[in-house]
Amino acid sequence: MEIVARRLGEALPGERIESILTPGINVLKTFDPPLHALEGATFSDVRRRGKLLLLEADAPGHGPLTLLMHLMSAGRLILYDKRGSLRDKTSRVLIRLPGERELRLREFGTKQAAWIKLLTLDGLEAEDSLRTLGPEAWPDPPASLEETLAVPRPLHSLLRDQQVIAGIGRTWVDEILHCAKLSPFKRGDDLSAREAAALRKAMISELGRVLDVYEERVALPLPEKFPKPTRVHAHQGEPCPRCETVLEAVFYEDYVMTYCPHCQTEGRILKDRRLSRLLK
Ligand SMILES: [Zn+2]
Repeated sequence: MEIVARRLGEALPGERIESILTPGINVLKTFDPPLHALEGATFSDVRRRGKLLLLEADAPGHGPLTLLMHLMSAGRLILYDKRGSLRDKTSRVLIRLPGERELRLREFGTKQAAWIKLLTLDGLEAEDSLRTLGPEAWPDPPASLEETLAVPRPLHSLLRDQQVIAGIGRTWVDEILHCAKLSPFKRGDDLSAREAAALRKAMISELGRVLDVYEERVALPLPEKFPKPTRVHAHQGEPCPRCETVLEAVFYEDYVMTYCPHCQTEGRILKDRRLSRLLK
């Protein structure tokens, strides 16, 4: 989301919204102010918080409004030069700009999970999805990370919990834990000061590394598929980039967690949940 916010932040401010349509069923989660309040509004800023995107606009008669978006896992925001067909089944939100251009929220796959909310300043302040977010993992995770993570839950789920720490997804949690040489199943409340410091450093370096790649390779109109500069995640069966031990994985219903048994788990192979369920 950081690179999406940066790229749209370079393009949108000053642009006037001609119209906004929501062909996606139930994509809009608010009704006051109404969506058409944005017609004639001018974009003023684009920001990111956690995995949420905030498109800010000044709307005549309404003042500052924020279009809050969560693209979920299959949503993409693309700034097209030409308007799309209304029959495009992937379209969730169409924001029409002058000169035939269109900022389109599309969602690939069968689920409609992406959502938007139109909020006033007061609404923004009271918005739960923002209010309950934990501190940002990048660029400056909390200095007291040991306290932030002092919860009896395994790191691989704890670090993806946006209410604990914001901005880390399934892919990058594997990269971060590998970089910090920590087991995905180590509990948050079991981290030593040294381990917490290594984890903090790994968050900054791994998320920074990904963003550097995005900066180089992601341009407007914004891609449907983003580069995934992973070294560990989903690389099971390949050699560890640090020690060349074969990387192992634990498979869950809809994702995979990859780790190095030598660097992270003192040689232990973690139980494969998928296999143990089949054997039950
Ligand atoms: Zn290794």
